[in-house]
Amino acid sequence: MAISLDLAHRSAAQTPAAAQPAAPAPALVAAAEKPTLIGLDRAGLAEAMASIDIPERQRKMRAQQLWHWLYVRGVSDFGQMSNIAKDLRYTLQDHFSIARPEIVSEQISVDGTRKWLFRFPPRGAGRPVEIETVYIPEEGRGTLCVSSQVGCTLTCTFCHTGTQKMVRNLTSEEILSQILIARDRLGDFPDAATPQGAIVPSEGRLVTNVVMMGMGEPLYNFDNVKQALLIASDGDGLSLSKRRITLSTSGVVPEIARTGDEIGCMLAISLHAVRDDLRDVLVPINKKWPIQELLEACRRYPGLSNAKRITFEYVMLKGVNDSDADARELVRLLAGIPAKINLIPFNPWPGSDYECSDWERIEEFADIVNRAGYASPIRTPRGRDIFAACGQLKSASERMRKKDRDALEGAA
Ligand code: SF4
Repeated sequence: MAISLDLAHRSAAQTPAAAQPAAPAPALVAAAEKPTLIGLDRAGLAEAMASIDIPERQRKMRAQQLWHWLYVRGVSDFGQMSNIAKDLRYTLQDHFSIARPEIVSEQISVDGTRKWLFRFPPRGAGRPVEIETVYIPEEGRGTLCVSSQVGCTLTCTFCHTGTQKMVRNLTSEEILSQILIARDRLGDFPDAATPQGAIVPSEGRLVTNVVMMGMGEPLYNFDNVKQALLIASDGDGLSLSKRRITLSTSGVVPEIARTGDEIGCMLAISLHAVRDDLRDVLVPINKKWPIQELLEACRRYPGLSNAKRITFEYVMLKGVNDSDADARELVRLLAGIPAKINLIPFNPWPGSDYECSDWERIEEFADIVNRAGYASPIRTPRGRDIFAACGQLKSASERMRKKDRDALEGAA
């Protein structure tokens, strides 16, 4: 999904005068030929230990040790696992990888927002793939916007990612790696130092929130997203509260209840229109699951309460969906659903046909929604200068044609 965050309150951290060049990225390239341990749950780690003949009575303990090193200490080198005997570290090194993927670039906005371009192995796509991840620092929290797919099968017309054809799903390792590298680069693991001049929350952890709102539709990659988020929220590891993890969907109705039951995170809906004829255009998945069906699924979202509201994202498009009548209809549609409405000024991207609503129009729209009792923060655009804002993410990855893939594999 396109990024949509409640960023109405701007960071109080310092603001640099101009965009900084990317810090040099470490040349850490995952050894694709060795299976990775990142993204395996504890049972998966124990199975991996079995595959290298670790005695059965030790497997659970070894899995726990690895879990601690990977997700509490954030190491990416078996050599650092000091409470594991050297011989076993060498064996692990010979059989598995825990390396980070390659950082192709790191851009830093004038407002402190960071955007990384990561490169992952082909895994059936014919060539390595690239995805973007964005970090948005504010006072008191740091939000990481994570991608779930390379490209997207959907074609939401306001979204830049929607112009990039789907290449492939990300694995649980690749989803989780985005969190691990962000924490590496920000110095958010024990014993790590935050780069000088970095804009980060002034105290506490630096990545406090994760939003599945980067490239792709997370509910079309349910199993990998679920596994990654369950690892990210494990209290003995990365320890992100499920209240601080939000999954945003364009409206894949059959998977919404599962999201609550099996992942238990917060839910956001990319709504953007209050009439089916318009939503069919803006968010074409609406033709399959129209507004009423989507809202029914929202009303039944497991755990829904005033303390656990659904966020409805609404991009403000000039003359398209921003009238008073639209605002009133939005209020009517959401009646009875514990909800927050996130108004997103449209972020332009090259080739887009839409314009952002005027600021006064957005405020008038927000007033109607507010008067009906809904919190409706207007999101302050972040990272526009580095194309990191809502709906602006896109990488250059393309899937190779089958003929070319076969030729490449034949030559290897
Ligand atoms: S095209 Fe739609 S579903 Fe896909 S990333 Fe953009 S907003 Fe999300």
